Order: sequence, then C-alpha cells, then structure tokens
Amino acid sequence: MFVSVIIPAAGFGERMGATIGKQFLLLSGKPILVHTIERFQACDAVNEIIVATQKTSFSLIEEIKRTFALTKLKPPVVGGHRRQDSIVNAMKTIDDRSDIISVHDAVRPFVHLKEITQSIETAKFFGASIVAVRAKDTMKLATTDGRVEKTLSRSSLWSVQTPQTFQRKILFEAYDFAVKNGITATDDSFLVEQIGISPIIVEGGYENIKITTPDDMLLAELLVKRFVP
Ligand code: C5P
Repeated sequence: MFVSVIIPAAGFGERMGATIGKQFLLLSGKPILVHTIERFQACDAVNEIIVATQKTSFSLIEEIKRTFALTKLKPPVVGGHRRQDSIVNAMKTIDDRSDIISVHDAVRPFVHLKEITQSIETAKFFGASIVAVRAKDTMKLATTDGRVEKTLSRSSLWSVQTPQTFQRKILFEAYDFAVKNGITATDDSFLVEQIGISPIIVEGGYENIKITTPDDMLLAELLVKRFVP
C-alpha cells in the first residue's frame, strides 16, 4: 500500500486577521504547518506528503523541509482559488504507485496518530473515511434570516474534521465529477458523496480543531502544551 497525504495550505486566513496565512503562524515557536506535517511524517503508513500553497511560500516550504527533517515532504504545488482547486493541483503530482490519498487541513495540528492510521485502514477496506466527532451542541436548521425551522436529532449529527481518506480511484472520480458538474464543496467527502459513496466515520477527538480565528489560536497555545501525538 502506498499512501499519499495532501495538505491544502493555500488559504489566506482572512478570518484570523493576520498578515500571513494562518498556517504559518507560530505555535510554541514552530509554524502550525510544521506541527501538522510532523504528525504525518511520524506515521509509518504514510509514504509522501504534498503541500499546496502560494508560490511565494515555496522557499519557506523547502526551508521547513530541511530544518525539521521532513523527509516525506515532496516539492510544494501551487494552491488554487478554492480549497478544492488546491487539492486538484496536488492530486496531479501524486506518485504513480499511490493507492490511498488522505487529505488533511494544514491548520489542524492536533490530529493523533491513531486517527490517521484508522482513517487510512478504513479507507483501504471501505473506500472512503472521514474523521469526525459527535455534535456536542443541539443543532437547529434555520432560514438565512435566522428563523428556526427545525431541531435536528443530535444523536445522528457529527462535526466533521480531517483527515478524510480515499482510495485513489474514488477521489479522482469524485473530482472529475465535481469539475464536470460545477460542484463546490468545503470538504472532500461531499464530492465523494456526490458519486454515490458513503464514507465511513472514524470517531476522532475534540482536540483536532481547525485553527481559524484568533480565539482558536489561544486554545491552540493551551493544547500544544499537553498534546501527546
Ligand atoms: O478556509 P478553510 O479554513 O476551510 O481552509 C481549510 C484549509 O484549506 C486550510 O489549511 C487552508 O490553508 C486550505 N485552503 C487552500 N486553498 C484555498 C483555501 C483554503 O489550500 N484556496
């Protein structure tokens, strides 16, 4: 089995309000992206890691590779307008031998090794897997002007994270279908669902936050002190 990991890291982080992409902000003295890549570098099942980022960050990625001995890191690819465009660009460069592709957000440094390996194993057998946690809050469906329409049953609701892992042929077929049909999605699972495949949920941890806003950065500074991969 040959496993490729794609890390989309081409966002501008507008919601963070910083001048650099949030993936390059320092967490305990190291860019968030480095923490994230290290999680996959340490996973024996992973063969290669491809980061999609802005061209202006390419030299930084090469420097990061050398400084932190990230031997599985391949040359970066340029990011696209949307997250899914960044992933398409990375998919074009994956190794010919690759049969499993795992996609993980650059700004989720608190993913555990167990979640990565379970995600890979599950995709290997069932075709597609997503890491998710049970919804903690009661969820409501509302109109765009904020009027509650319905209360959803919490027992069947999940908050979806990454990694999301797929057999290579499934992910390629899903992305082909999305391009042909003009589908936009905020996660890869949605695109795979559109070709009739139901990914299997791997129950993850609440620590695996997506660092998005300044509040998340405060939380991340606390989490990084006690995180055990
Ligand atoms: O914007 P969002 O928080 O959903 O971004 C999730 C991940 O996708 C981040 O790691 C971000 O850098 C990446 N991204 C990307 N290309 C884009 C937009 C987001 O690689 N055009």
